[in-house]
Amino acid sequence: MRRIELLINGIVQGVGFRPFVYRLAQQNNITGFVKNTMDGVLIQAQGRESDIENFIYLIKNSPPPKAKIKEIFVKPVTLVKKEHKFAILKSDGYYRHRLEIPPDIATCKNCVREIHDPKNHRYLYPFTNCVDCGPRFTIIRNLPYDRENTSMNKFKMCPVCEKEYNSPSNRRFHAQTNCCGICGPKYFLADSKGNEIASGTLAIKRAARLLVEGKIIALKGIGGFHIACNAFSTESIKRLRVRKNREEKPFALMSKDTKIIEKYCIVSPVEKEYLLSSSAPIVLLQKKKRAKWCEEIAPHNNYLGIMLPYAPLHYLIFAFEPDLELLVMTSGNYSEQPICTENQQALKLLSKIVDFFLFHDREIVSGCDDSVMRVLPDGKIQMIRRSRGFAPESITLPFKFKKSVLGCGGNMKNTFSFVSNDTLYMSHHVGDIDSPEAFENYTSSIMRYAKILRISPEIVAYDAHPEYMSTVLATTPDFFYKAKKIKVYHHHAHICSCMVENRLENRKVIGIAFDGTGYGQDGTLWGSEFLVCDYSGFERIAHLRPIRLAGSQQAIKEIWRIAIAYLIDTFGDEYREYGFKFLKQVNKEQLSLVEKMIKVGMNSPYSSGMGRFFDAVCCICGIRNKINYEGQAAAELEAILYQDNSENPYEFELVKVEGMFIIDHRKVVRSIVKDIMNKVPSSKISYKFHLTIVRMVFDLCRIISKETDIRDIVLSGGSFQNAFLSVRIRQILEENGFNVYSHSLIPPNDACISVGQCAIAGFKSF
Ligand code: ZN
Ligand code: FE
Repeated sequence: MRRIELLINGIVQGVGFRPFVYRLAQQNNITGFVKNTMDGVLIQAQGRESDIENFIYLIKNSPPPKAKIKEIFVKPVTLVKKEHKFAILKSDGYYRHRLEIPPDIATCKNCVREIHDPKNHRYLYPFTNCVDCGPRFTIIRNLPYDRENTSMNKFKMCPVCEKEYNSPSNRRFHAQTNCCGICGPKYFLADSKGNEIASGTLAIKRAARLLVEGKIIALKGIGGFHIACNAFSTESIKRLRVRKNREEKPFALMSKDTKIIEKYCIVSPVEKEYLLSSSAPIVLLQKKKRAKWCEEIAPHNNYLGIMLPYAPLHYLIFAFEPDLELLVMTSGNYSEQPICTENQQALKLLSKIVDFFLFHDREIVSGCDDSVMRVLPDGKIQMIRRSRGFAPESITLPFKFKKSVLGCGGNMKNTFSFVSNDTLYMSHHVGDIDSPEAFENYTSSIMRYAKILRISPEIVAYDAHPEYMSTVLATTPDFFYKAKKIKVYHHHAHICSCMVENRLENRKVIGIAFDGTGYGQDGTLWGSEFLVCDYSGFERIAHLRPIRLAGSQQAIKEIWRIAIAYLIDTFGDEYREYGFKFLKQVNKEQLSLVEKMIKVGMNSPYSSGMGRFFDAVCCICGIRNKINYEGQAAAELEAILYQDNSENPYEFELVKVEGMFIIDHRKVVRSIVKDIMNKVPSSKISYKFHLTIVRMVFDLCRIISKETDIRDIVLSGGSFQNAFLSVRIRQILEENGFNVYSHSLIPPNDACISVGQCAIAGFKSF
């Protein structure tokens, strides 16, 4: 006989870890106890030598699906006499060493089986869950993850549920969100004015029927409301676009199963794995063909964003109406506002968009949008939105921080991050924070995390852009007034976030940050940056020749203004002689005003963003003059790209000015215009243009590497959501012996800014 003590840390709360240990103990004739402590899960196990060994082996090798063991410490302790059973003891204190807020988990197979089984106690019950699945982050008010700290606290378990909760052999043993049709939350259906029409199972049945009939319905789910309609009803989708004021931005879909997805999209084994994973993200998949209904959902786009059902409600809707195969499932919000989470708020904001509401009576404590990811052609995973199912799972840093840090993030696609010790918590997707509602949501989300994680940051890091709302918040004197406030430059943050993700120690790298805009040291808008940097600082080595953004923000939407800036920069006034097609749609008076603004620099800040270069080329090629959503021009330019291996990149010039390389685009623009005049198809121009950027990166890496002896290249920024650029740049650099580091589970877009801010500000404080 022997007795040992095990201390386990990692993701071991809210994932059924204690019940799992309990069952193993039973199976191996082990007595003792398990409990949550401030340092992790503590176990004392007593039994025969071989049983103990088996027990430890199974803990290490077959933990619950969502558990992630980081460290196990084992030590012998003295035997306890007359101990006859194994017990789960009450938590003492909270798990301070490595707090984890578990992410929401898609409904598991066992629970799906139960809701479809007429003989089961939970037949057709839309809140069915167990220790392996169900909402977590979105219902947690505080840690430890116990029922009284979640929004399930208002539902008292009925005797049947209570019995399951207390019986060790049951898979709902210690399932904090355990409930059933008798004691748990309920759904009810209401019209667009909020009048209740049906409740319980009938409400879901009626909602499913209404979807078949082409109605638009707001469905309250796990992390907020979705706006749903039948994806094959072109008429419904058109109506939704008008009502939601969303002209062309692609809608996400939910498919009944993978078979339906495979009918319309190419699905690789890895993509399928992600679709079916317990995070259940939206996966961007290549369309098989451009059917008309696809065009309505994702216009001028080669991809469809699809997810599978991840809550019992979704399964029930598809089960009630076998003809429903595919639903539009877009976030239930109005334009760039945060996702609706409350019934009354949804009624107020969405009643003009939807025909009906399917409400439920469980509070969503934290809104959380669906995550979006893709698998690049070279097999690498790219996260585009890291949210439900992933956030706020912690990330282990390559170093330990002496002080706790809050990174406030950027302005669009915002996330914030907290760091304590060597653990970084990147928030769910907060999104654009400009509107008062969004700003309020952003602020209260930060406060909620601070409370749950019990971190009062000693350092607050923020973006250098004075007008970002995150900067406004961070620099408000009474916002964590004791903390030291540290300003971080946007593109430095981009690169350092990628270094952190790749667990790079502090060393000098060549960082390439391509995006739309970010505030630079000279007060102009940067975005085509070649930096030599580490966590402690950076040096700007090369960038695109800047152009003027006529009307600043307006130019970002009306991209013809950017095209004019590029053309004037290249040809002067003579650009008019080419008779560009896109000019036909431009108002003459506006055009001459814009020309004037560019020449005198009135309300026209300088920009060297890579995204802006794509905007200009997209417009000059005649693809579009205005964009309806961020990144549309670059996405469409990529979508039409046709590979022709006999083609070469356009020529460009590098000019060295005061030690800095300026990438002169004028030769590129001249060549593109020449191609247009020679009626070269846009698909080919797009290809050559993409090749040019790849070439540019390669040439500059070689030059900078020669001067500095650095072989590590780090890639970040929203422009790397362009799959062609991402894959080709990595390929050519790796083929030439460079070490290339890019993002995978942290998005390359501005969602990563908060991570980089933490790394840089935390590093400065050492
Ligand atoms: Zn019950
Ligand atoms: Fe950026």
